[in-house]
Amino acid sequence: KEKVPSDIEIATSQTPKPVWDIAKEMGLQADEVESYGKYKAKVELSVLQRLSNRQDGKYIVVAGITPTPLGEGKSTTTIGLAQALGAHLHKVAIACVRQPSQGPTFGVKGGAAGGGYSQVIPMTEFNLHLTGDIHAVTAANNLLAAAIDARMFHEATQKDKALFDRLCPAKKGVRAFAKPMLARLKKLGINKTNPNDLTEEEQSRFARLDIDPATLTWNRVLDTNDRYLRSITVGQAPTEKGLTRQTAFDIAVASEVMAVLALSKDIADMRERLGRMVVATSKAGDPVTAEDIGCAGAMAVLMKDAIKPTLMQTLEGTPVFVHAGPFANIAHGNSSIIADRIALKLAGIEPGDEESRNGYVITEAGFGADIGMEKFCNIKTRVSGLKPNAVVLVATIRALKMHGGGPAVTPGKPLDAVYTEESLDLLEKGCANLGKHIENAKKFGLKVIVAVNRFSNDTDAEMALVQKYALSVGADYAVPANHWAEGGAGALEVAKAVVEACETPSTFDFLYDVNLPLVEKMNIIAKEMYGADGVELSPEAQAEVDRYEAQGYGSLPICMAKTALSLSDDPSKKGVPTGFTIKIRNVRLSAGASFVYPLAGDMSTMPGLTTRPGFYDIDLNPETGDIEGLF
Ligand code: ADP
Repeated sequence: KEKVPSDIEIATSQTPKPVWDIAKEMGLQADEVESYGKYKAKVELSVLQRLSNRQDGKYIVVAGITPTPLGEGKSTTTIGLAQALGAHLHKVAIACVRQPSQGPTFGVKGGAAGGGYSQVIPMTEFNLHLTGDIHAVTAANNLLAAAIDARMFHEATQKDKALFDRLCPAKKGVRAFAKPMLARLKKLGINKTNPNDLTEEEQSRFARLDIDPATLTWNRVLDTNDRYLRSITVGQAPTEKGLTRQTAFDIAVASEVMAVLALSKDIADMRERLGRMVVATSKAGDPVTAEDIGCAGAMAVLMKDAIKPTLMQTLEGTPVFVHAGPFANIAHGNSSIIADRIALKLAGIEPGDEESRNGYVITEAGFGADIGMEKFCNIKTRVSGLKPNAVVLVATIRALKMHGGGPAVTPGKPLDAVYTEESLDLLEKGCANLGKHIENAKKFGLKVIVAVNRFSNDTDAEMALVQKYALSVGADYAVPANHWAEGGAGALEVAKAVVEACETPSTFDFLYDVNLPLVEKMNIIAKEMYGADGVELSPEAQAEVDRYEAQGYGSLPICMAKTALSLSDDPSKKGVPTGFTIKIRNVRLSAGASFVYPLAGDMSTMPGLTTRPGFYDIDLNPETGDIEGLF
């Protein structure tokens, strides 16, 4: 067998098409495409209006079994499948993927552009700054953080009257409220629009947000793995008059602003969600929002280009939208609704011309299907109203062997022999994990296509065993996938299964009624998706649930923050664990993104660098200016 070269060698050996060619092929018009260099372009949201009368294309979500820490090839399969449908079956096929954080690029993990002969190119740009969306998220997030601390400082150092006069200064003798202030007046039940009409008591109530510092949840963010920012003290300069405060930095993609970007339907929706984000509770117990702070409008301005998806291409010259990259635990881990919506219209059917395009949109859901697919279905599609047709469930023989009792798989360490040699017993035992994910997908009414992502050591007998098992437990299709080694040609069987699966209408439905109480929704997810006996809340978690329900957040969907490495909340439990409960330590609110996230275990929101990080291998070739050593 020929050896497959490294990801960067493959990615850079292919000259991408000019992005405008890709755009034209998709049916985009010149005024809808804003190019960022030669190979990347932002696509205008106006496409949605122009194509509003089109019926959407077919919608396929790619999810995976419970992974090893190495990843089982969801991104690679998303790209490989798009290549197979687009470049080999000559369908309109658009892949929608997340933008990776730059932090891990210099740390430990591989890139997120796919791998082998199924990648997004230019891969270096994909994995680095791209079109600056993460920088925009960082700027918006940190503007709000700065605004909160400054506001608390001014409230602590000024009297009510002075505060009010500074918030609503007289310009040429006329005082006026800024727009977000009107929203705040309404919230306070003050039915006045002229600042001069407020009584002294109303002026005080308006001017003082009176944030309880102990309840602040808004952190600063940065797109670097910087463990020394996990806990910091701010306000140490003498100018802050001793008003120091303990806080932290998160990695930029953990910001709620990123989740908002991913879940917004359009500009108006994003603006509203940014304003709704709760940053703290007042001393009186009321939620304080970004709108109350007065900077949601400015944040929206910082996000004005980030809201447009970035168009790139696969190694085989088919289109890819890259947009948003929220965490998959404390957020929902899916790429953006806007990118999916635009893609579905571009792949959609023009009225009266049924044969015209009739294409496919392949979008990826992070983590294992118990988390990524569940959140895709219960959170993302609930907001978007889009109905998926099918799920491609990616399985690998190595992960199934691990579930069957194989030794731990550790990044950076050589794989045990059971993973590189045929081991049908272990594989057969581990298949139950795949079975559980198939059962889960069926609960949403989705057609299930199991794609067995083939690694070079996998034997024909092993591949056959997994396929046979998958079909026996209810998968609609189970096919081999060899796109990592062969590109789109290797995913043809997956592509054909997708085409066939999409011929029947979708019977998709949600798993729970969103109006159920928060704990009941958590129980449904724990029992139905994880196979748990239910959830168990700490007293703090219960108090948080009670508070959110009292504050009117009870009918938000649940975004479970759980490990991806097990169906349970214990990463060491492989296969299909039974007889366990999901222990919820705390419950947090993302009021702008619009979900409540229970924490089942410690979730790190700021990765660190190890003793031997990836950056040692990365350099710029002094002669050519090319990047070397990036994956
Ligand atoms: P996920 O999206 O599920 O985390 P990725 O698609 O990013 O997984 O794949 C994880 C890593 O495994 C990547 O470095 C990718 O190149 C590699 N990989 C995926 N499929 C194969 C395969 N069939 N053979 C060898 N390496 C693969």
